[in-house]
Amino acid sequence: MSGTWPQAGFFACELDAWLAASCGVRSPQSLARGLAREQWAALARTLRRAAAHSALYARRLRGCNLSPPGPEELAALPFTTADDLHPWENILCVPLGEVERMVTLRTSGTTGHPKRLAFTAKDLARTRDFFAVGMARLVQPGQRLAVLLPGAQRPHSVADLLRQALEPGGVEVLSPPPECLKAGQEACLAESLLRADPHCLVALPAQLARLPDFLPEGLPRLAGILSSGEPLPPETAAKIRACWKCELLDHYGLTETGYGCAVECPAHNGRHLRALDVLVEIVDTVHGRVLPWGEEGEVVVTTLNREAMPLIRYRTGDVASLLPGPCACGSPLPRLGPVAGRIVRDGPQGRSRIVAYAKGGA
Ligand SMILES: [Zn+2]
Repeated sequence: MSGTWPQAGFFACELDAWLAASCGVRSPQSLARGLAREQWAALARTLRRAAAHSALYARRLRGCNLSPPGPEELAALPFTTADDLHPWENILCVPLGEVERMVTLRTSGTTGHPKRLAFTAKDLARTRDFFAVGMARLVQPGQRLAVLLPGAQRPHSVADLLRQALEPGGVEVLSPPPECLKAGQEACLAESLLRADPHCLVALPAQLARLPDFLPEGLPRLAGILSSGEPLPPETAAKIRACWKCELLDHYGLTETGYGCAVECPAHNGRHLRALDVLVEIVDTVHGRVLPWGEEGEVVVTTLNREAMPLIRYRTGDVASLLPGPCACGSPLPRLGPVAGRIVRDGPQGRSRIVAYAKGGA
């Protein structure tokens, strides 16, 4: 997949076409059934592999049904929490020599230990493929993309993976000087963007909230923006659309999901899930009971096809819902609604409260 350019063809979008090809489906009418079949097969493989190679899951999955035929059986499996990512070696399913990238994150757990996540070269390649597909709607071969996310110099950072994903397809990927990405340096960033003259941006919502004040006329060639890294406040989306009049799509992803997870389509009605790499459940924030589609609760992800550190029913702490019904774009993919807040679990008792995202910035 890397190095080619995704085409939607007769599917609703590039993401559908990519997923259809991955599960051997040839028509849009068969996509939902093909995805479901492949998802549950991938989950059964993930569970068996985790139980065989990870110390934590060998213990935790003992006695569980490891060939779950559907959502009810998945819901019977135990959760994984941020605290379980320390020590991370307990989840690792490959020899240390196969780890290509390690990421350390400030914890959202109750113990104060940092979270560490490992990825193999194949894990990173799957993310690169998703990035190429997710960006296909916004930027075309021969155009320029400016990635405003920090860390472009770090190998396998999000900015670097975007470069790896898109440059083989003929997109020039640029990053502003790191000093222009610091808070309060929007004038420097605006100047560097005017010089770069990109067709597309990948940016944090906080950058998008402020940049129109420094670039009221926009950028001459700018036609599309992907917002990523934090939830996109509706006020920021409205400001960008009013000032710059370009396409703006939102992306949801966590390091735990291999950075990429779900991306908005031009119908602007939820983010389409990367369905062969993540299974999403929404659970009651207190009791952990699975909630029906349309109800808001904690986002729980199970990674599929991940080599280094598969995560089974991982409680993300984000509050959102799965949107019922089909998308206006015609895609049958499940869609994640807006992230309404974040669950903060404090103290050794794991007491939890929900913090709403502030308006106008994330
Ligand atoms: Zn759609």
